[in-house]
Amino acid sequence: MAKQTVLIVEDDPFSRELVVDLLGAEGYQVLQATDGIGLVERVKREWPDLILLDIQLPGIDGFTLARQLKADPETRGIPLFALTAYARPEDQAEALEAGYDGYLSKPLDTKALLHTIARFLGSPGLFLDNTSPQS
Ligand code: MN
Repeated sequence: MAKQTVLIVEDDPFSRELVVDLLGAEGYQVLQATDGIGLVERVKREWPDLILLDIQLPGIDGFTLARQLKADPETRGIPLFALTAYARPEDQAEALEAGYDGYLSKPLDTKALLHTIARFLGSPGLFLDNTSPQS
């Protein structure tokens, strides 16, 4: 099976590199973007299996991008998670209303991040050995 691919859209280099290192070490292929310019087009070229999309981004904010991705029948099925330092409950509600499937607060809880991704994609390690008994 091909590697599961995660796209992270995050303007903060520290948060972005943390995710790239963490997911790369877990065996995911990680694509990166620093803003959402041309995001829908890029998603349709590279077809990530899951997208981590910051809310506060230069140019186009994550809420707007989430609405674009979820309005498009080709991209709406891709799991989409907010990465954000916003902490108020109303911001979480707005993220879900915009179409995000879930919400991860910064600073990132790395265990929660891996658990969330594995829940949607499966852990890459699970696919390495397809000869094991099914019992
Ligand atoms: Mn940001």
